[in-house]
Amino acid sequence: MIVKPFKRTLEAEALNSLATRLPISHPMHRKMQKKAKNKAGGDIGEEVVMRELEKLKLPYPFHAYHNISLYAEKLIQMDILIVTPHYALILEVKNFKDTVEITSNPSQMVQTLANGTINVCRSPESQVEDYIYQLTYFFKQFNINLPVLGAVVFAFETLHIINSSNRATILLKNDLLPYLRAIKTQKPHLTETQLERIKNLILQKSKDYKPFPLSENFLIEPNDLITGVICEKCTYIGIKKVKRTWVCPKCNSTSQTAHQQTIKEYFLIARKTLSNRECRQFLRLNNNHEATRIMKKANLTKVGKSSSTKYQMIFPK
Ligand SMILES: [Zn+2]
Repeated sequence: MIVKPFKRTLEAEALNSLATRLPISHPMHRKMQKKAKNKAGGDIGEEVVMRELEKLKLPYPFHAYHNISLYAEKLIQMDILIVTPHYALILEVKNFKDTVEITSNPSQMVQTLANGTINVCRSPESQVEDYIYQLTYFFKQFNINLPVLGAVVFAFETLHIINSSNRATILLKNDLLPYLRAIKTQKPHLTETQLERIKNLILQKSKDYKPFPLSENFLIEPNDLITGVICEKCTYIGIKKVKRTWVCPKCNSTSQTAHQQTIKEYFLIARKTLSNRECRQFLRLNNNHEATRIMKKANLTKVGKSSSTKYQMIFPK
């Protein structure tokens, strides 16, 4: 069964917001555009593979999880994790297209796009090997004795893979279910009760990666960001407030709540705290009463008192 279904990560949302709100003239603009695009593409790949797992039937129980981050010797972020009484399986999902070459010496993955562009990145094989070690370490801490397997899954079929390494299992999306069905099992290592206990443990210990506000990570000055409330329909930034209604000058759509998304974006990309002045500036509001009213209604956590009151947004685990 799917225990933790696919969910678009807050990180993808934050990267998209940052890419949208960095002016074209900013030195980090191109880099952030690329990062946002890669992250969004990664999410699509993971969604495709999770959909495939929804069809999975095995002769023994299994739990599938999307996006699990656990601390072992260090933090590991697994795209997809499957736990069964016989084994745990880590799936590292790649959404690459065109030609990909995986080499072992040095351990690299080289992607060549149809237009000739070459991207070199860390080999998913060494990543999977590292994750297998880390998850085994994590289990040992809780006296769980379960073999850990790993595989790299390419989410899209239109891909030419040259694998001169053969260190890890490399699968195309359509190979995934046959691969899982073919895993040989003997006596189970866990009872169903233990499998349930591990489920609770994983859900309790997994914490989504939340490097917010992103500006701190990428050393971007929050004042460089494009301010203004974003139109929910056409994504125009800087829609106008007419009394209590937001009106988009581009598509004419109206909204009572458009500022809520922009406040969330502020905490994802700009700063940890929001003052009245910062709220007026980021939402382009006319006066501080308006800002106070909006912040009070925005489900934020208050820090500090009276004139120096600031607000924080607590993101769920
Ligand atoms: Zn609009």
